Amino acid sequence: MIVFKFGGASVKSANAVKNAANILKRYPDDKIAIVVSAMGKTTNAMEVISDHYFHKRKKQLKEAVEERKNYHKQIVEELFPDKEHPFHMEFNNIFEELQERLDKAPTQNYDHDYDQIVPYGEMISTRIISGFLNESGIENQWMDIRKYLKSNNVFREARIDWGLSTQLVKNGFHFRDSRIYITQGFVASTIDDITTTLGREGSDFTAAILAHILRAEHVTIWKDVPGVLNADPKWFDNTVKLEQISYLDAIELAYYGASVIHPKTIKPLQNKNINLYIKSFIDPDEEGTLVGNLTYNKLIPSFIFNMDQVLIRISPRDFSFIAEDNLESIFGYVYKHGVKINLMQNSAVSFQICINNNKRKSRNLIDDLEQEFKVTYETGLELITIRYFDQSTIDRVMINKELILEQIYKQNIRLIVRDKG
Ligand code: ASP
Ligand code: MG
Repeated sequence: MIVFKFGGASVKSANAVKNAANILKRYPDDKIAIVVSAMGKTTNAMEVISDHYFHKRKKQLKEAVEERKNYHKQIVEELFPDKEHPFHMEFNNIFEELQERLDKAPTQNYDHDYDQIVPYGEMISTRIISGFLNESGIENQWMDIRKYLKSNNVFREARIDWGLSTQLVKNGFHFRDSRIYITQGFVASTIDDITTTLGREGSDFTAAILAHILRAEHVTIWKDVPGVLNADPKWFDNTVKLEQISYLDAIELAYYGASVIHPKTIKPLQNKNINLYIKSFIDPDEEGTLVGNLTYNKLIPSFIFNMDQVLIRISPRDFSFIAEDNLESIFGYVYKHGVKINLMQNSAVSFQICINNNKRKSRNLIDDLEQEFKVTYETGLELITIRYFDQSTIDRVMINKELILEQIYKQNIRLIVRDKG
C-alpha cells in the first residue's frame, strides 16, 4: 500500500479537487491511504471561529461560520451540480453538527475547545472529497481518523500513543472493504474519544504515522511546488530543485526552517526506511524530490532565510563568567515564554540567542532576563543558514549585508546579518 497526502492548497477549490481526482486516476491498482488537510486557508479561519467561540463574540462568530460555510458550499455546488444530489443534505448536516457544537457553552480550557472546533476543517474537506471521488467512479471509504489515532490529552500538541494506534490502525486500514481510504490529517483523539490535534501543519505527520504503521511502500506529499527547492523563491532567485535528499538532510533543512516538509514527518519514515516523494499536483508527470535512505558526500547548497530576527546578548551584571547556573535560569525564562531559539552562542562573559521577533514574547522574555542580567539586543536582523556552503555561496548572500555573527558546524554555516539598505 502507499500513502498520499493532499494539503490545503491541493484541494482549495472545486477545480483543485477535480485535479486531485485526476491524479488518483493515474494509480488505478494501488491500495492508497489518503490523508487530507482542511481546504485552502480553512484552518486559519477555524482558528478565528474557535477564538470567537471561546470569547463568546456571538456576532463575529456567526459571521465567520457563515463565511466558511459559503466557501465550502460553493465548492460543493460546483462538484455536485445536481441540486437533488444526496450529498447536499450530508453537507448541511456537517454544518448543523458544527453549529450544535458551537451552541454549547465554552469551557475554561482554550486549547481543549480549539481541538473540538478546528478539526471540522478536516472533517468537512474529507467528506467532500470522499463524496466527490465516489461520484467520479473512484470508490473509496471515508475514515474517521479519531477511531484509529490515539493520543494523550495535551490539546493542540497531542502526542501519539504509538502502541494503541498501531493496533487500531492495522485493524481499521486493512483494505478488504476498499482499495482507497480517505482520512483526516492533523487530528487524533484520546482514549476517551476527546478530539485532539497534533500541532499546526500536522497533516504530513499523520501521513508519516500511517505509513510507518502500515509499512507503506512509499509516501507522496502533493504540493504546489515541484519538490524540495534549495531555497524559498520568496527570498531567492534561480532556485534549484533537489532531486534526491537523505532523511538527514531533509530533517536538517526542515529544522533550520525550510518549510516544505514538517520536521516531525521524517522520523517515522526513516525508522522503517520508507521513501517520501514531494511532488507537484500541478505537474504530476514531473519527478519531484525523493527523500530516502541515501548517501552522498555533497549536495548542491541549500539556503534558508529566517527574517525579522532579534539577537539578545545576556551577561552577568558583575562581569563574572557565564556559568551553568546562569544558563539554567536563562533557559528557564526561554521555556517559560515559549520562545524557540534559532541559534545560540556563548563566550566567556556573554550568552547570545537569536529568536523570531514575536513582539510580545520577545519583550516579555527580555523583561524577565533584565531582572537578573545585563541585556542588550538588536532587532531587524536576518539569519541565513547555508547547508553545504562554500565561499561563493557565502559571497552571494553577503551582498549588501553587514555580518553580525557567524557560526560553522560541519556542512552548515549560519550567518546573522543586517541589511545595509
Ligand atoms: N490543516 C492543518 C493546518 O493547516 C494541518 C495541515 O494542513 O497540515 O495546520
Ligand atoms: Mg499544510
